[in-house]
Amino acid sequence: MQKKIWLASPHMGGSEQKYVKEAFDTNWIAPLGPNVDAFEKALALYNEVDHTAALSSGTAALHLALIMLGVETGDEVIVSSFTFAASVNPITYQGATPILIDSEPDTWNMCPKQLERAIIDRISKGKKPKAIILVHLYGMPAKIDQIMSVAVRYKIPVIEDAAEAMGSRFRGRPTGTFGLMGFYSFNGNKIITTSGGGALVSNDEWLISRSRFLATQARECAPHYESMK
Ligand SMILES: *Cc1c(COP(=O)(O)O)cnc(C)c1O
Repeated sequence: MQKKIWLASPHMGGSEQKYVKEAFDTNWIAPLGPNVDAFEKALALYNEVDHTAALSSGTAALHLALIMLGVETGDEVIVSSFTFAASVNPITYQGATPILIDSEPDTWNMCPKQLERAIIDRISKGKKPKAIILVHLYGMPAKIDQIMSVAVRYKIPVIEDAAEAMGSRFRGRPTGTFGLMGFYSFNGNKIITTSGGGALVSNDEWLISRSRFLATQARECAPHYESMK
């Protein structure tokens, strides 16, 4: 029998149990703490991006990105057609409509020409898309330069779905850092895993700090949040 090579089984480097033990020993079982802070810093360094927010999933990261762009009921959002359902689901969580763009044959990702055609069509019908979700499927960078130039021409913000593309670069720069926001997934079947998890990244400080605020129950720094025991 031939040995099976699994597509995405998690690989343990050797230090994982040490850090899990350390988290127990120091009682950092709370959802945030020094390990998450260090992870966010390492992620920012590795992906050469200024701000990162570690989240519960890639889906949560995309959902927050759409909220930050004000996507709401009745809006339209452009997204790659060749992708996992999670690139599209958060659009519907906001009550918006996905506009799916077909792939080009070189990278199998979003076709810049079809993208422009769709934008012109939607604008002519009075429905300018609120955002473009560009997927780098299987870690293959899309034609980012061409897509970004279309997006800039029509002033539509780009969110990069780099859920599968951690470690990929386009002209030397990490995927996920070209658009206004980008996100990675750390689900069990991705490049690196936290079992379940994701991160939103951006060079815009406010987008990330506001996303972090929304991701942590929108708690204000006010005394009425102190629980009295
Ligand atoms: C996995 C994946 C997501 C969602 O990430 P989760 O962490 O599973 O929510 C989004 N887009 C693509 C292309 C993915 O492969």
